[in-house]
Amino acid sequence: MTSRATGCLALLCGFVLAGLATAGAAERAQVARTGAPADDRFPVATDARLGGDSARTRLVIDLSRTLPLTAFTLADPYRVVLDLPQVTFSLPPKAGEGGRGLVKAFRYGLVMQGGSRVVIDTSAPVRIDKAFVLDPIDNQPARLVLDLVATDRDSFMRNLALETRQRRPPETVQREPARRSDDSRPVVVLDPGHGGPDTGTIAASGEMEKAMVLDFALALRERLEKTGKYRVHMTRTDDRFIPLAERVRIARSQEAALFISIHADALARNDGETRGATVYTLSEDATDAEAARLAEAENRADVIAGVDLSVEPNEVADILIDLAQRETKNFSAQFARTLVGELKTAARLHKKPIKSAGFRVLKAPDVPSVLVELGYVSNPKDLKLLMSEAWRSRVTESIAQAINTYFTTRVAGQAPGRRAN
Ligand SMILES: [Zn+2]
Repeated sequence: MTSRATGCLALLCGFVLAGLATAGAAERAQVARTGAPADDRFPVATDARLGGDSARTRLVIDLSRTLPLTAFTLADPYRVVLDLPQVTFSLPPKAGEGGRGLVKAFRYGLVMQGGSRVVIDTSAPVRIDKAFVLDPIDNQPARLVLDLVATDRDSFMRNLALETRQRRPPETVQREPARRSDDSRPVVVLDPGHGGPDTGTIAASGEMEKAMVLDFALALRERLEKTGKYRVHMTRTDDRFIPLAERVRIARSQEAALFISIHADALARNDGETRGATVYTLSEDATDAEAARLAEAENRADVIAGVDLSVEPNEVADILIDLAQRETKNFSAQFARTLVGELKTAARLHKKPIKSAGFRVLKAPDVPSVLVELGYVSNPKDLKLLMSEAWRSRVTESIAQAINTYFTTRVAGQAPGRRAN
């Protein structure tokens, strides 16, 4: 086999894959929904396999072409992270859900412009024995190969310390400079939860929270922009991971007058009754066990997508003890009440629709912030609503109305907010 023949084959393979990636309306809709780029500039991951046992496990990912990769480990829980250039993941639907050997499960997705990530949960401390990409050969595609071997915790932690020293600080999402303009309209920041490797909750039928809340936030942005009263900014507009602290930083750098994080909850066991929307504000003491459970689940985003929290700058925690916080808290509570009042007319609410807990994404000390759980993807009736265009337009309308009321009241009361214009 000459290298020219191999090259032709690879080219043909790439061409066929590119064709597949753009074929079919259903697929295009899927791409639009998840924000995955339909772009043959990026390598395509087409399949993934696990082999081996609890002493040694191999993960193989088929790729349309070779690419460079960086592999490193994270502790508590034990994870292996593969950082890659931007990849279009076109893996079978359940890929990564089941484990084998040392691998419990893995997730994948976009973490920044030009960067994708695979996060592998391992059942025990592991050592990365090999991590490389094989060139395509004969009729085999390029293959990413990761070999993990079992090790003990002490060795794992020693390796981790070594890796951390060698590794560049984690890439932060490109910051947009704060818009300083003559435009004095209040800034509303919409924050669709999750994204990229962090899918959020998943319905039994496969719909993902990250896609539902993005669709919702885009519709809400459109609705708000139509009023002409606000500048609307979003923490993400496609399917990518944004660390929680970065979402808070975006709100602060945009000098947001209001921050709304949008989510959809799920119960591990659907009781058939728990359903409806809930509005959460920040509190160190959770209203009840259910609120504490939820905050813990939402705060796990960084663990899920593979960002090591120990190396994240924690500027927000430091400013938490700030006088501004009390005022912010009052405004958050005021908006939460207004929002529930409006939502009541458009949507079904949880039986206790206002709660608070320690959500990390609500911790901007100077931006009134709420987190809205639109409903339960684990409840078939809620899920049907969450997927319905009519419901979405009704609910975005009522949220827009609540925002109008909130700002009108603030101006009328001459609240000492930064944007009492
Ligand atoms: Zn969520």
